[in-house]
Amino acid sequence: MLATMMHHPRCVGLAAPQVGKNVRIIVMDARRVDKPGSRHGRLALLNPQITREERSRLLREGCLSIPDYTGNVLRYDAVEVRALNRDGREVRYKAHGFEAVVFQHEVDHLDGKLFLDRVGSLETDVFRRKSYG
Ligand SMILES: [Zn+2]
Repeated sequence: MLATMMHHPRCVGLAAPQVGKNVRIIVMDARRVDKPGSRHGRLALLNPQITREERSRLLREGCLSIPDYTGNVLRYDAVEVRALNRDGREVRYKAHGFEAVVFQHEVDHLDGKLFLDRVGSLETDVFRRKSYG
């Protein structure tokens, strides 16, 4: 999964269901694009759960699984996440800004949700992408 993520230059996260695996694993690295927020680096997490959410706002989002479109999605600006790391140890992260959004996006994938499921209106909140990124 890390190799798949790294293969796509602006890909900041991937969830196991996107590569056909029905397990609750995500990989992510918010440092790969220049957007404000916390930066915990490259993470590989098992069973991540969002335990706290603060301040929702609307922002534009895309997904490797839906390469031709972006959409306006309501996301929290700050979250706390609990998960197991590669060694099976419990880890907790406080994320804000872009990294917080990546967490929410990838956890959604584990629950079978795409950002298109979260847009207000498919007519006014979805946009055709001009170029990836
Ligand atoms: Zn995605």
